Amino acid sequence: MQQEQKSINEVWNKRPLIISGPCSAETEEQVIATAQRLAATGKVDMLRAGIWKPRTRPGSFEGIGTKGLPWMQKAKALTGLPFTVEVATGKQVEDALHFGVDVLWIGARTTVNPFSVQEVADALKGVDIPVLIKNPINPDLELWLGAVERVAKAGIDRIGLIHRGFSSYGNTEYRNAPMWHLAIEMKRRNPELMIINDPSHISGNRAILHDVMQKAVDLDFDGFIIETHIDPDNAWSDAKQQVTPERLAEILDSIVWRKETATNEDYHAALEKFRQQINQLDDELLQILSQRIKVAEKIGQYKKDNNITILQTSRWNEILQRAVAKGDKLGLSQEFITKYLDAVHMESINHQNKIMNS
Ligand code: PEP
Ligand code: MN
Repeated sequence: MQQEQKSINEVWNKRPLIISGPCSAETEEQVIATAQRLAATGKVDMLRAGIWKPRTRPGSFEGIGTKGLPWMQKAKALTGLPFTVEVATGKQVEDALHFGVDVLWIGARTTVNPFSVQEVADALKGVDIPVLIKNPINPDLELWLGAVERVAKAGIDRIGLIHRGFSSYGNTEYRNAPMWHLAIEMKRRNPELMIINDPSHISGNRAILHDVMQKAVDLDFDGFIIETHIDPDNAWSDAKQQVTPERLAEILDSIVWRKETATNEDYHAALEKFRQQINQLDDELLQILSQRIKVAEKIGQYKKDNNITILQTSRWNEILQRAVAKGDKLGLSQEFITKYLDAVHMESINHQNKIMNS
């Protein structure tokens, strides 16, 4: 049965905007069953699926290709959900448009490459379609802004941002560190652009999806793009981070939705938002401090092996002078920097002491 469809503008302007679907389109049955189960929750506004998958290393599933596009079209006809796919080349833009795609998204590995973004932008000249742009994999706001500018110059006037976190080397709690402060800064610089959060690629793991989503809501994001699969454990890509459509509905229900109020509660709402930002930044500072201590411990081990004292006054002076000069440029007082570094230094010494004498 054909479903009634909302206009794409109505969907694009809905808040929160919820986009969901599998990491990858795998089979026609999987795409259609996912779409139907998502539509049945009544909580999802748009279907997503990767058709061409930019995988980090060859040998894993690289996407079904153009033959998956008619499956998305059929899923839309059956459920009324408009659909979005990731594009990275001019040919992919052409193919996706040919099969009636409603919204395009540019992936994180494409945003890093101005040549690719330009190719996509060139293919979009004269086309009236909304485009979502993921942050680049590296924490570089200029690259993200550059991609926005290239797409805007092609004449696209409905542009949205997707915050999907940033790669870092080694194991962390996240697959891609959220670095919320960068998303906040991007939002501050582009208040007219919508920004949605991709908790799937930040988390890499379904257990922490809810917490990431709550943080995004607390920071006033406009919605989510989140991966769902009818059989998450057997997904052909990103299995660990996907959930069923029904589980997504449960998570959405358990989130505390916050609004930006425009009433006399304005003051409290604004305060709450700032406090969330402060909490967020403090969490990140603590993470970084703990990394610093770990490095200090390694130095402690090295000093022990070489029978060197913990304290070298000249090095300590150098650290202080460097930080005071830097703090001054950043508007931080000498008094504060000195107190702060004293505390950090003492903590490092205590950790090194333990190592020396163990
Ligand atoms: C995706 O959304 O499936 C994807 C490939 O994401 P990203 O570009 O964020 O890695
Ligand atoms: Mn994915």
